[in-house]
Amino acid sequence: MNKSIGIGKYLKKIVLCVLILVMVLLGGCGQKEAVQPELLFQYKGNYWEIYDLSESAIPDREKFEQLTEEYIKDIQELLGLDQWWKEINPDADTLVVTLMITNPEGKKSRAEYCTKGLKNEVETTIVLGGFFLKPGYDGFLAHELTHAMVGPFFSQSLEEGLCLFVQDSVGVKKIFYPGMRDKGVEYWQCFKIYYEHTKEAWESSAGEVYANVTDSIGKEGRGYDFSGQTRTVWQWYSESFVRYLMDQYGKEKVLELMDVGENEASYEQILGKTLEELRADWILYVESIEQEYTWEEADAIEEEYFKIDT
Ligand SMILES: [Zn+2]
Repeated sequence: MNKSIGIGKYLKKIVLCVLILVMVLLGGCGQKEAVQPELLFQYKGNYWEIYDLSESAIPDREKFEQLTEEYIKDIQELLGLDQWWKEINPDADTLVVTLMITNPEGKKSRAEYCTKGLKNEVETTIVLGGFFLKPGYDGFLAHELTHAMVGPFFSQSLEEGLCLFVQDSVGVKKIFYPGMRDKGVEYWQCFKIYYEHTKEAWESSAGEVYANVTDSIGKEGRGYDFSGQTRTVWQWYSESFVRYLMDQYGKEKVLELMDVGENEASYEQILGKTLEELRADWILYVESIEQEYTWEEADAIEEEYFKIDT
């Protein structure tokens, strides 16, 4: 008799514990699930009829809409954004995405920063072209969405660096040395190869251009309209600088700098060092990395990777 009462008591306790656990778990999940904006899509043309996009990451309209939704979720999670659209329009619950695809040949992708639309909407236009439409390069969509969601910042270089960091983290493949990183080579080792190669090539042929580009990293203001190789270097160096700051000061601090920073003085206010000091630290850090692969070796790995992949 006594024994059975004892078991009954234990059972009650166990059931209670399980209930509490389930409630805690459900509550936890509920809090974690970030709110998403409703999505509304508009198209300036039937691009899937105009261009052959069958080999691209967006072979049809459904895929574009699915990726956009996925990436917005991923970007919010990666950057810890919560209801970012409310800052643009407090009444908004809907994001209107207008898609334009330009002639795939040699055109860059770009995005308009989100603005207040109709009563309960924020809106953006995403323009995709060129490189984006090559097989596998869907990361550009994540890049442009990031501009639309978080920009503009006081520094175009920081903004571009962040968008590249996102592009390099979200999507079907990494875009900076995808072959090397597929082999497990980490980001900084890859950047080191790129850095040494560009430094060497530029110092010998166009030292002044090199100095101009490196001097523009993290600077306040916009209008860094470099073209061709110069632009590529400016972009990859900007990403590297942003990643360095994140590694050293934490992602949250760096995002705070981008969010509330107004000019170069914000570096010292938020990170405790001036832009010049931070840039010198960053270069010192990159210089101190021991290079494990030569440019030629890395190049061969990339070539092989793209041959297999596409
Ligand atoms: Zn960009």
